Amino acid sequence: MKNAFTVDVEDYYHVSAFSGVISTKDWVKYESRVENNTNKILDIFSKYNIKATFFVLGCVAEKNPNLINKISKEGHEIASHGYSHQLIYNQSAKLFREETVRSKKILENIIQKPIKGYRAASYSITSKSEWALDILVEEGFEYDSSIFPVKHDRYGMPNAPKLPYKLKTIEGNSIIEFPLSTLNIFGFALPVAGGGYFRLYPYAFTRFALNKINKGNNPFVFYLHPWEVDPDQPKIKAGKLSRFRHYNNLRKCESRLHELLKDFEFDTMANVLNDSVIME
Ligand SMILES: [Zn+2]
Repeated sequence: MKNAFTVDVEDYYHVSAFSGVISTKDWVKYESRVENNTNKILDIFSKYNIKATFFVLGCVAEKNPNLINKISKEGHEIASHGYSHQLIYNQSAKLFREETVRSKKILENIIQKPIKGYRAASYSITSKSEWALDILVEEGFEYDSSIFPVKHDRYGMPNAPKLPYKLKTIEGNSIIEFPLSTLNIFGFALPVAGGGYFRLYPYAFTRFALNKINKGNNPFVFYLHPWEVDPDQPKIKAGKLSRFRHYNNLRKCESRLHELLKDFEFDTMANVLNDSVIME
């Protein structure tokens, strides 16, 4: 069973957990580590012969076109993570459209291939920002992977479907949605999809949860960020919860990634969706 491996290509100072202490205009003052960290992930993927989807932030692509080209040349899929990593439900529809078009053009100009997939910053397509899905359809996206069907303070649509499905938008368009993976435990959807949850749970639990999804004959989507394989990144002074979410178990992440890649089969999101039954 092939699962989708996804990497959200951004730097440690772009994350929503630090947006209260690092303003967008100060990003230039921080040391960029995204290129080295992404190269580290590319090397690991090539060791296990794994292809993945890289959701790239437009502002990162602008500064690192060679990196984006390299990812694409190595056979991975390039998709969009928006332009400036702002929460969609805090943006106007006009600004969202401008940033979406801008990031898509930047990526397409670099790799000379159409961009089909989208993932919002911090999974910020929620009941407050469902309108964004119509804009994605209108701008030529074929699938989205921004909906986290859980309860969380920053994201989540707890009642959304848990498996890939054809989503009907407010305007009556349709787009394929690959929601972030959860495990149903006693009627409760537990996020088991990667990132902070991958670092939080012991690896044996992640393996158990992902195996359970695959045994139900369903693919899961796993996500990781380049900064999660960089335990030596500069430490940002932020609130306790934000620091926990960002720094917890960073040192364990890379070795767990090797285990994961040995235990499961992965491919790009586009390929996994092509091979999957999409619920209507
Ligand atoms: Zn992100």
